[in-house]
Amino acid sequence: MEHVTSLDELPLRADLRGLTPYGAPQVPLPVALNVNENTHAVPDEVASDILDDIALALRDVNRYPDREFTSLREAFADYLGHGLTAEQIWAGNGSNEVLQHIMQAFAGPGRTAFGFAPTYSMYPLITQGTGARWIAGTRQDDFTIDPDDAARQVAEADPAVVILCTPNNPTGTPLGLDVIEAVYDAARGVVIVDEAYQEFAPHDAPSALSLLDGRPRLAVSRTMSKAFAFAGARVGYLAADPAFIDALRLVRLPYHLSALTQAAAVAALRNSSTMLRMVDEIVEQRERISATLEALGYRPHASWSNFVLFGGVDDPQALWRALYDRGVLIRDVGIPHHLRVSAGTEAETTAFLEALASIGSSS
Ligand SMILES: *Cc1c(COP(=O)(O)O)cnc(C)c1O
Repeated sequence: MEHVTSLDELPLRADLRGLTPYGAPQVPLPVALNVNENTHAVPDEVASDILDDIALALRDVNRYPDREFTSLREAFADYLGHGLTAEQIWAGNGSNEVLQHIMQAFAGPGRTAFGFAPTYSMYPLITQGTGARWIAGTRQDDFTIDPDDAARQVAEADPAVVILCTPNNPTGTPLGLDVIEAVYDAARGVVIVDEAYQEFAPHDAPSALSLLDGRPRLAVSRTMSKAFAFAGARVGYLAADPAFIDALRLVRLPYHLSALTQAAAVAALRNSSTMLRMVDEIVEQRERISATLEALGYRPHASWSNFVLFGGVDDPQALWRALYDRGVLIRDVGIPHHLRVSAGTEAETTAFLEALASIGSSS
């Protein structure tokens, strides 16, 4: 069979020409700390409980699943608390799909989406995929966001969608509720708060969920990929006004959440206290990484997530490669003189820190 040699030979949409797909390396190294997964396996007793429910669901898999994934939405409403009900919940195959639903419904051709860079690398890609344009705002030098400055930038850009990531990926930076309120008031479009890492924040840290009441253009998204150790199951969700959820129904594919996904996620949520047992240990490893990085002469940024971004790296590519050669995979997120590492198990974290120490701080 003859193949075309490049994308250029296909009648690709003009606005997709020259883009590169999301591409975090997937290589089987012994210590993989590059995509902020929870590196702890699902506990055995939870795995078998989930398996029982999947087995039951499998018996009815000749039928389409519950299009409204009612049980799952009820389970998410319960888990999130804040007086939320199932009609305020949406879910998808990863929060990336949920974000795509938002962009399909509220962005699209001729519109813009806005975020404060550096932030999650998928935002521009999902935005562009729907034919909208991404606008990158700016942060302070320490990656925090000032409420007045944020409101000014958003008012000036006047985007259809604003995405605020807190704690922010790839920097770990938390965001005060005052910034979210200021941005909401300055925006005419919808405001999405991506709380993918919220479970790793201090237990008394307020969530943007507390701001939902009376703000119909606000949505708070979460994922089971990080704290819940469920990245491979692909389950993300959000909370918003019921009318906001109705908008997402217009663009989702029918039956987008498989019966097996729904069964697995409901069972995992039933076991949420066991599933989330490792969060405190991961936070401990994160603190250990920051302290050791500092002792080694690097500059770790304050993080409320399950990863640490650190500066003071002379040559990020060389250090990334030297760690790779020692079996440790971390992430070059493209910020000059910085690298990002996820907090793993105690053993994985030790492997990373020892490999780093053996290389020396001037690589
Ligand atoms: C990892 C991550 C997600 C989660 O994506 P899923 O599609 O749910 O796996 C969402 N937002 C941010 C900022 C992330 O880092």
